[in-house]
Amino acid sequence: MTYRRVLLKLSGEYLMGNLGYGIDPKVVADIAEEISEVVEQGFQLAIVVGGGNIFRGVKAASAGMDRATADYIGMIATVMNAMTLQDALERANIPTRVLTAIAMQEVAEPYIRRRAIRHLEKGRVIVFGAGSGNPFFTTDTTAALRAAEIDADVVLKATKVDGVYDSDPALNPDARRYQSLNYGHVLTHDLRVMDSTAIALCKENNIPIVIFDLSVRGNIVRAIQGEPVGTIVGGFCEVS
Ligand code: UDP
Repeated sequence: MTYRRVLLKLSGEYLMGNLGYGIDPKVVADIAEEISEVVEQGFQLAIVVGGGNIFRGVKAASAGMDRATADYIGMIATVMNAMTLQDALERANIPTRVLTAIAMQEVAEPYIRRRAIRHLEKGRVIVFGAGSGNPFFTTDTTAALRAAEIDADVVLKATKVDGVYDSDPALNPDARRYQSLNYGHVLTHDLRVMDSTAIALCKENNIPIVIFDLSVRGNIVRAIQGEPVGTIVGGFCEVS
């Protein structure tokens, strides 16, 4: 099975690489290179980028900050990542548009659903910045929401591990990787593939989620082509 329109969720932490904070330009350049293969093969790609490498609302709120204010700052942080990604993609000759859920018209287009779809149809990569525009949400939930809105065939959740295991492989040498999982299992066992709101949204809209290791070259294209590169949520539970 090959997916046509894809929503890639990139966390801020992924962009940080091994740095303690901020953005590793090498990581961003590598992602741009991977994405150029996706675009060359004619797939439509939308990206939701996180902001945890710069600011996390929950963390600031636990230190006493007003939660909604902290979340708005978190959303603004995601725009920095989105613009950085756009810069790297355009340097790799990939036409890219940043669409933000909080208006910042000097630096990005406002998010307009029909316009987002039009960009995809024209072969442009779109990067959604500023999350959903609402505090108390996450960029995982934004990924599920935008995927449903633009009628994406799949959510690709990029991580540094090759899928979901039945126990921690760092602690248990017999840990087994799930080839596939159903939404209910992820929710009832709190597997933290994505947050539960995101899982519930994907479940309701029948959007599969693939959890895969982005650091392995060629994995985005493999995941889009339906190769078993990680764990797919949306089928039956099966361990490899
Ligand atoms: N955020 C929010 N609403 C959203 C998306 C994000 O308030 O719809 C805020 C929230 O404070 C969050 C921060 O933006 O902590 C960064 O997003 P997230 O933690 O999801 O980033 P990631 O973990 O993917 O890097």
